[in-house]
Amino acid sequence: MYDVVIIGGGPAAVGAAVYIARKKLKTVLIAKEFGGQSIISASIENWIGDELLTGFELAQKLEKHVRTQKGIEIIAGELATKVSEIPGGFRVDAESGKFFDTKTIILASGSSRRRLGVIGEAKFEGKGVVFCSTCDAPVFGGKTVAVVGGGNAGLEAAVDLFPYAQKIYLLIRSDAMRGDPITQDEVRANPKVEIVYNAQTDEILGDQFVTGLRYKDLKSGEAKTLSVEGVFVEIGAVPNSELVKGLVDMNQFNEVIIDHKTGATSKPGIYAAGDVTDEIYKQNNISVGDAVKAALSAYNYVLGMKRQSPAAEVSNG
Ligand SMILES: Cc1cc2nc3c(=O)[nH]c(=O)nc-3n(C[C@H](O)[C@H](O)[C@H](O)COP(=O)(O)OP(=O)(O)OC[C@H]3O[C@@H](n4cnc5c(N)ncnc54)[C@H](O)[C@@H]3O)c2cc1C
Repeated sequence: MYDVVIIGGGPAAVGAAVYIARKKLKTVLIAKEFGGQSIISASIENWIGDELLTGFELAQKLEKHVRTQKGIEIIAGELATKVSEIPGGFRVDAESGKFFDTKTIILASGSSRRRLGVIGEAKFEGKGVVFCSTCDAPVFGGKTVAVVGGGNAGLEAAVDLFPYAQKIYLLIRSDAMRGDPITQDEVRANPKVEIVYNAQTDEILGDQFVTGLRYKDLKSGEAKTLSVEGVFVEIGAVPNSELVKGLVDMNQFNEVIIDHKTGATSKPGIYAAGDVTDEIYKQNNISVGDAVKAALSAYNYVLGMKRQSPAAEVSNG
């Protein structure tokens, strides 16, 4: 029986692991990969203690830090696939078929890019349909592209494309941009950008690669087609909370609801931190801070359990 299973490999999981290591609890961390979502970022300027680093450099630092922690068992390159309740705790299954019985779980599985779910999106993923403007904007030098999304992600994708694309259609489903006013001004001022409001993307067209995008004008009801060679899908993120569905309370966005003082979920023994939760500000430093709270709370929970069960205390050293 483990004391703690940490699920994730981003800033939240690493933050939890570093603090749990100091408590000498029997702990395993299951991480598909290390670094988290900002691994694709070209410049991170607000990671406290580093005035500028790339997402990849941050990922390397996080992995190095967690790997130097004594007493944390690391299962890397694997997903945790299932969480179920067992007497006295939980069972976490991993991709390899291994399972880990534990008194507590710290869920730090973050979030993934939201998909449009339209015809052609999956077929042309990597063949013109992309989800990371920082990574892929340079590939579209001299080309006409569409960016789908009128929030910060969409606007920033358009800005990333300024130096490369020949023309950028910005498709916004509503009749207004969201996102930071400064970025909105930047986007409006660039002659390469054509903003298409009330546009519901319905299909991504192509043969070998993307050749176009079909959308519905929600005002007129008319179906329209744009000739584009790239489609940047920038419509936000979905929390990786599937694992604990039905076990813990979630909000309407499927974010795990936590007590923000402790990281506790509605299920005693399961804690959560970072972008998988209902934290409003999804940021690296906040994920770490919240994970520290979850780790210390998990420690107190295990201590409580040990006090109730002297036999367990002896067997866990
Ligand atoms: C392009 C981009 C740039 C950003 N730039 C900044 C910035 O400059 N500053 C800032 O503060 N924030 C930035 N953010 C936000 C920041 O990256 C997130 O807030 C932060 O990464 C959240 O950390 P997390 O650990 O909660 O989750 P994530 O970073 O999402 O990490 C989750 C990790 O868990 C792993 N995982 C998921 N499910 C499982 C599973 N079932 N089993 C095992 N492992 C699993 C994933 O592989 C991943 O490694 C940026 C985000 C993006 C997308």
